[in-house]
Amino acid sequence: MDPLWLEAVVVHECTHAVQDWEKVPALDVIHSEADAYIAEWVVRRSRGQNEAVARGQGDLELAAFNAAKFVIENKPVSESTYRQVVKEIKKLYTNGKFGGGPNPTDPSGKPIDQKKVIEGLLGTLYRYFPHPIAW
Ligand SMILES: [Zn+2]
Repeated sequence: MDPLWLEAVVVHECTHAVQDWEKVPALDVIHSEADAYIAEWVVRRSRGQNEAVARGQGDLELAAFNAAKFVIENKPVSESTYRQVVKEIKKLYTNGKFGGGPNPTDPSGKPIDQKKVIEGLLGTLYRYFPHPIAW
């Protein structure tokens, strides 16, 4: 498994976890995905991925790639750049390729078993941090 891909997916899913915990008012699924994709691309760009790679998701990757640059530079994402990400997410929803459509795929196009990924991550965490953290 590509470690950068895994890292980016973890950040994407953690973004959703934070959104859930914070119960962000009026955050709909389109905008929650937009933010998660941008967060994912912050990781990818920070790790040296300097090109948006399409993963069967049209121009979404490029839009999120562009938006991530603002975050990395600690600037507010320009409205038009953010709108582009939202537009691409909406397109995927409309095409049924997202949310209720097929599951996301890994870089080779194989469907991701999200439960397996999370279990694997937890296994890794517990290996390195065998004592549960008290919350
Ligand atoms: Zn998501």
